[in-house]
Amino acid sequence: MSFLSHLECGFCNKEQDADKVWNLCPECSKPLLARYDLEAAAKVFDKDKLATREPTLWRYHEMLPVRDAKYRICLGEGYTPITHAKRLGAEVGFEELYIKDEGLNATTSFKARGLGMAISRAYELGVKEVSIPSAGNAAGAMSAYAAAAGMKAYVFMPKDVPTPFISECKALGAEVTLIDGLITDCGKAAAELVKKYNRFDVSTLKEPYRIEGKKTMGYEVAEQMEWELPDVIIYPTGGGTGMVGMWKAFAEMEALGWIGPRRPRMVTVQSTGCAPMVRAFDQGDEFADPWEGAKTVADGLRVPAAVGDFLIMRALRESNGTAVAVSDEDLMAGANKIGRTQGLFVAPEGGATLAAFEKLRDEGWIRQGEKVLLFNTGSGHKYAHLWE
Ligand SMILES: *Cc1c(COP(=O)(O)O)cnc(C)c1O
Repeated sequence: MSFLSHLECGFCNKEQDADKVWNLCPECSKPLLARYDLEAAAKVFDKDKLATREPTLWRYHEMLPVRDAKYRICLGEGYTPITHAKRLGAEVGFEELYIKDEGLNATTSFKARGLGMAISRAYELGVKEVSIPSAGNAAGAMSAYAAAAGMKAYVFMPKDVPTPFISECKALGAEVTLIDGLITDCGKAAAELVKKYNRFDVSTLKEPYRIEGKKTMGYEVAEQMEWELPDVIIYPTGGGTGMVGMWKAFAEMEALGWIGPRRPRMVTVQSTGCAPMVRAFDQGDEFADPWEGAKTVADGLRVPAAVGDFLIMRALRESNGTAVAVSDEDLMAGANKIGRTQGLFVAPEGGATLAAFEKLRDEGWIRQGEKVLLFNTGSGHKYAHLWE
């Protein structure tokens, strides 16, 4: 059973009925966030209940939006392992380094969490056709869950996206449109057809439930680390669903009485070729100006503008976190270092977290003895061309 109670705009706080289909807040066009009856949930949802549950993100179903279990589309998403990266730690001279490997999710990235949740909830609410602009991984994940739900899927990707991303969507039955431009241009093209054909738009943070899937990373970090959150979490940020989702999860868990008020310092890492959040953070801005000429091999980070920018800034600032840009050269070096020490073939976005770690450790922002968790957000397999 779900304790979902209503939706609330993350900016103007206006509330909406959670059992209707929504995109952005109708008042201010900012993201709607799912709210739960945490008081009622705290009385019955004890964390000791988790031990016997299935190892997928659905183990937290009380805090997820799908009301009826028959609408859960499950391809085995979530509950990915956290490894104490001892060989990598030895190489970089740091003991408490951990990696959560999201490459093991369905469709080989953590996008499965968000899209699995968004599609399941859309399925429950009667949606038949879904549309997404994507830098690559989100399109594959949406195609997979839409296929499993029997929905028609329309994906819009930049035409220079690596071939495996396109092949995956085609194999999963989606209609693929390639656009001469960036994800923001894909968004414009998709939006026109969404209106014309009444498709449901599942763009990042433009519907309320992808973030609910991604927040389960926060629940898992707490559960897998025995309810002691790490000191620092380093997360490769594009649209920001994961960053915002984890921050939301920590607040929910505190309300449930599962954790105390201590929080990790949240770190956003982006590529120097596209770093709108880093720039906004450094300038003390609430909103991020779009990045001109975005260019990076880390496709998931090639996101020049994000509708949830102010929510990312909030998580970074409230956590005493920071934002770092690393070069494509350094993020690839990071991926290789993780690969040869830990046996994980990580996406370039995952490599970026190690490059950010080394930078922050060298600057003294991260100190020996602190527990640091890196998020490898996807597998390297769809980016194999980068090693050719
Ligand atoms: C989408 C993506 C990101 C960025 O994730 P957000 O939650 O949108 O910030 C990072 N890494 C990979 C591999 C991705 O596919």
